[in-house]
Amino acid sequence: MNLQIGITDLCNLECIMCLQTAHNGLYGKKENKIERLHKDNRGFISENTFKKILQDTSDIEFELLKMQWLGESFIHPGFKELLRILRKYENIKRIVFTTNISKINDDIITEIKKLRSKIHFIFSLDSFDPVVYKKIKGRDLLPNVLNNINRVLSHLPDAIYTFQMILMEENKNDVDRFIKKIKNEHKIKNIFFNESSIYKEENSNILIKRLGAFDQEKFDKLHLKEFLRLTGKTKEEYQKIMHIQKISDKTICPAPFRTPTVNWDGTIAPCCMDSFLEMPMGNINKDSFSNIWRGEEYRKLREAHLNHDLKAFPRCLRCSGLPDLALNKQEIEDVR
Ligand code: SF4
Repeated sequence: MNLQIGITDLCNLECIMCLQTAHNGLYGKKENKIERLHKDNRGFISENTFKKILQDTSDIEFELLKMQWLGESFIHPGFKELLRILRKYENIKRIVFTTNISKINDDIITEIKKLRSKIHFIFSLDSFDPVVYKKIKGRDLLPNVLNNINRVLSHLPDAIYTFQMILMEENKNDVDRFIKKIKNEHKIKNIFFNESSIYKEENSNILIKRLGAFDQEKFDKLHLKEFLRLTGKTKEEYQKIMHIQKISDKTICPAPFRTPTVNWDGTIAPCCMDSFLEMPMGNINKDSFSNIWRGEEYRKLREAHLNHDLKAFPRCLRCSGLPDLALNKQEIEDVR
């Protein structure tokens, strides 16, 4: 199982392709406005909520914990204390920090070094060109970001690093430079192009819209072309890697069995695709994790997937999904 905790849904940047800015018009286009993320219910997780979710799940062996969902975790004013709390738990193999890396200090790095799990940083960069960076991110923070990356790399040489670039119109000519810089300066092999889907509906998760909101067909072609050019992989491999397959009659999404995702206010969603909390499974401040995990909301969602009848779950129907890793029988039995 994987746990994801969105310790905040707020961010210090204003990236043009992100849910954070899409209420003003996605990808700079006013006509592509979508609902404001979590409307007026936005904030930072409390220590108590954080402790409660970790304590309630301390008997579960997690493959990984993602310490981010929808916002920038490193702006949490109590982040250092959250890391101290996290240090007590030994049931998590790997901890993933996805960050725009504009805010980090030595105290935080020191606390991260004390964690007992394997550490994985995902740096959301999108460009190494200062002009393009500012255009995409809304702020002129690239020098600061590069400095922070070097600081983290020197203090945590054994961590896993992923440099993430969301391929879009603004940075499409910047790709080679991006890869060269990473390879030459950091000797990093693991590069993601986190632009993954072809889903078109207005209210879908922003990660899968980006250039798609601007011109879906153009985006599809560009993304495939760049992927093939940059990775040397085949079209079939692309489809597999990018989870092109959609939720269909034959699909059982593993998320309701595998990926509890906690919003800062304690609401548990079945997966990170449920950005607007359309499928609340319960709230960790009101009930135990075990009760929620085995509760009615989860039961209904799991049955819907097992029975291939998702009409009660429109979010799932329009999902481009996470059905890449098949469920095993034991995972189904474990929650029955
Ligand atoms: S189908 Fe999509 S939205 Fe539904 S549970 Fe799976 S990943 Fe989440």
